[in-house]
Amino acid sequence: MSPVLAVHHASMCYPGEVTALDDVSLAIDEGELLAIIGPSGSGKSTLLNIMGTLDRPTSGTVEIGGQDVAVLSDRRLSALRGRWLGFVFQQFHLTDGLTAAENVATGLLYAGVPRHKRRPLALEALARVGLAHRVGHRTHQLSGGERQRVAIARALVNQPALVLADEPTGALDTANGAAVLDLLIGLNAEGTTIAVITHDRDIAHRLPRRVEILDGRVVTDTAREGRRP
Ligand code: ADP
Repeated sequence: MSPVLAVHHASMCYPGEVTALDDVSLAIDEGELLAIIGPSGSGKSTLLNIMGTLDRPTSGTVEIGGQDVAVLSDRRLSALRGRWLGFVFQQFHLTDGLTAAENVATGLLYAGVPRHKRRPLALEALARVGLAHRVGHRTHQLSGGERQRVAIARALVNQPALVLADEPTGALDTANGAAVLDLLIGLNAEGTTIAVITHDRDIAHRLPRRVEILDGRVVTDTAREGRRP
């Protein structure tokens, strides 16, 4: 079976001779929970943008479900992205003025799900993240930890093959950060494939696989170590 997502020999060079990624290869199988860890400036965001098909590498390829994304038009690529990937951001990126249920339902807008089905699916996703009692709250009425749960529900509502979480606990205090991490670990136990981008070693060490990036290169991948002779 193809990996959910595979990056083959990807490099990213920005103008001014900045090599943000240098020959990175990485495959994520269904059911995995991994941390992509590295200090600031190591290339994590660049890798995330490439994995999320938001940016194209200067060289190398990205495959989602075995499909090389480079050959797709922008329209087909965004359809693939909407169907396969869910995104969680450090700053939540919820819409002010909308309720939790409305925010989650926006995750279904581009998937062509009819309007009358969006709300029940949104409520189901909010229940999965423990927010069944907050569905009618607007963004400003929610705590930071609750906002991130709404964002996670929005990422899950379309049942993506892979959730990409970019520093998901970075804007939260320790207790709420730990609770969000527990939630991600629980969702993975239920079958969701998740990649967490982080600079925090404590977070990385709670996850079963760690891919460490330094100066744009993968320096450690605990999944590979097990396979070495
Ligand atoms: P991280 O997310 O680990 O902090 P980034 O992927 O943001 O790292 O950055 C990796 C390197 O690429 C850094 O040296 C950064 O300055 C550089 N970089 C990132 N984006 C750009 C860009 N759009 N133009 C030029 N250089 C960039």
